[in-house]
Amino acid sequence: MTALTIPGLDQAPTTHQRLLAWVREVAELTTPDQVVWCDGSDDEWERMTAKLVEAGTFVRLEQKPNSFWCASDPGDVARVEERTFICSQDPADAGPTNNWMHPDEMKATMTELYRGSMRGRTMYVIPFCMGPLDAEKPMLGVEITDSEYVVVSMRVMTRMGARALERFGDDADFVPCLHSVGAPLEPGQQDVPWPCNETKYISHFPEERMIWSFGSGYGGNALLGKKCYSLRIASVMGRDEGWLAEHMLILKLISPENKVYYVAAAFPSACGKTNLAMLEPTIPGWKVETLGDDIAWMRFGEDGRLYAVNPENGFFGVAPGTDWKTNPNAMRTIERGNSVFTNVALTDDGDIWWEGMGEPPAHLTSWKKRDWTPDSEELSSHPNSRYCVPIEQCPIVAPEWQDPKGVPISAILFGGRRATTIPLVTESRDWQHGVFMGATLSSETTAAAVGQVGVVRRDPMAMLPFIGYHAGDYFQHWIDTGKGADATKLPRIFYVNWFRRGEDKRFLWPGFGENSRVLKWVVERLEGRAPAVETPIGYVPTAEAIDLEGLDAPVADIEAALAVDPEEWKAEIPLIEEWFAKIGDKLPTSLRDELEALKQRLG
Ligand code: GDP
Ligand code: PGA
Ligand code: MN
Ligand code: MN
Repeated sequence: MTALTIPGLDQAPTTHQRLLAWVREVAELTTPDQVVWCDGSDDEWERMTAKLVEAGTFVRLEQKPNSFWCASDPGDVARVEERTFICSQDPADAGPTNNWMHPDEMKATMTELYRGSMRGRTMYVIPFCMGPLDAEKPMLGVEITDSEYVVVSMRVMTRMGARALERFGDDADFVPCLHSVGAPLEPGQQDVPWPCNETKYISHFPEERMIWSFGSGYGGNALLGKKCYSLRIASVMGRDEGWLAEHMLILKLISPENKVYYVAAAFPSACGKTNLAMLEPTIPGWKVETLGDDIAWMRFGEDGRLYAVNPENGFFGVAPGTDWKTNPNAMRTIERGNSVFTNVALTDDGDIWWEGMGEPPAHLTSWKKRDWTPDSEELSSHPNSRYCVPIEQCPIVAPEWQDPKGVPISAILFGGRRATTIPLVTESRDWQHGVFMGATLSSETTAAAVGQVGVVRRDPMAMLPFIGYHAGDYFQHWIDTGKGADATKLPRIFYVNWFRRGEDKRFLWPGFGENSRVLKWVVERLEGRAPAVETPIGYVPTAEAIDLEGLDAPVADIEAALAVDPEEWKAEIPLIEEWFAKIGDKLPTSLRDELEALKQRLG
């Protein structure tokens, strides 16, 4: 075969043979105009953002330093779960919660989609590292993409470029991540601001530790270090190697006595992780610091405790609802600039605005690039619009957030968005019961994924769209994690719900900074000092057990938020049974036993 000459292809700043061979193979298939190896420098950022401004993809903000407004194609705004595939050899390894296609068939289909798909564009090679660069075994990947938006976003969200490539040496393992927006340009053809393709595939090859994504530029579909690598592929690595890759924030809680506790919490997308991670406590003397807002990798340390590391380098946060009242630390983080805002509204003086950010200005450009006034029927910002900003800009980032050892977790919170049934907080009886709580977690669907919003579905450990293998095996992995451990050193497991509603549909619990009151109860439980009532579903505080000093909310609301209603729970049982039936034979018997015990306790 005659080797193709593509400018830049041979200017590789590496001698890693497997990487070189793969890059050449992809270039020959996708036939870009040129190949660029990304170094992650400030110069590169300047070039990329300037190119995106020129293309009409970005608008440089006047009111925030080095920050950009971006509107996507209106059809490319969220993760596409229907188009996400786990291509294991055996469909039983993908299980009932994932879409499956045989890897050979998927590769054949996608190879034809990729053929010539980068024509008229630049192919970027982005070496990156998930988690600290100085880890003993750095978790490396390379994303090949034809999108400048992806290059810029990957610089915020990952440790990428030359500093990552240094860790590759000649033969380090890495996860190949191939991405194309699937919009080749013919000679002379005018590009659009947000190229993408109606045909979309987000495919994972767990046995090969490889990712192929086509047709979408949206974060969760296109920034392949995030959901695809750090959750779907990493969960498979964790199963094989004895660790956990979870959809969890990591926060550090400092009590008035200066005791430090690390908490991890799993809530489904758009259910409050980023907000809790940066919460500003309303109770005096308590402090929160942030380590991560979306993903935690957890493994046992030599002392037998479970340690968590955040693999990411940035926040990719839900914009609407974020403001100085609800999440001041997120506001301070983005005020410092270096951010990309996607699908929010643009103000006339070159700033950003979204629903929930105080009084709307008289005129805006909406995320659909239409004139918008407070009288407009449409929202100014897409409900899943996002800010993308480096973690190190967060004023309350914990100094140890980059420690490759991670931080020892004392409590794990599972939570969802449920208008009924689920109390504000419940403590599990033990690890196995906590795994049952996680495995039966339910939540109303949100705009973070394409599809209907507000439908209650089971979302185990908030990982439904992210478990890279059979959900039954995943539950077993959680059970085994507890079995192998010293029970006194395991994190205690709690179930929270900030979203229970009263009869008038209003939230019963004020949420946000007030969630510190729940964190305080959790810590007091760890210390053996807080009372709780043993109920059929676990240990639940009474309103008196929670510090409500200075809280501006009727006690009746708090009592309603904490109520365990046996009738509501009896209605929940058939839904859990249906869910367990879906998991099938691989459901661990211990979880079946937990369900039977719950039924008994409910009478
Ligand atoms: P994530 O996607 O899980 O990180 O969730 P976010 O923290 O970004 O929050 C998603 C949405 O839920 C945003 O609109 C928030 O304003 C809202 N939210 C977050 N925490 C709370 C809370 O405690 N109570 C209420 N009512 N809304 C919340
Ligand atoms: P989120 O992250 O959990 O902060 O919404 C994005 C996603 O899960 O799609
Ligand atoms: Mn997420
Ligand atoms: Mn988030």
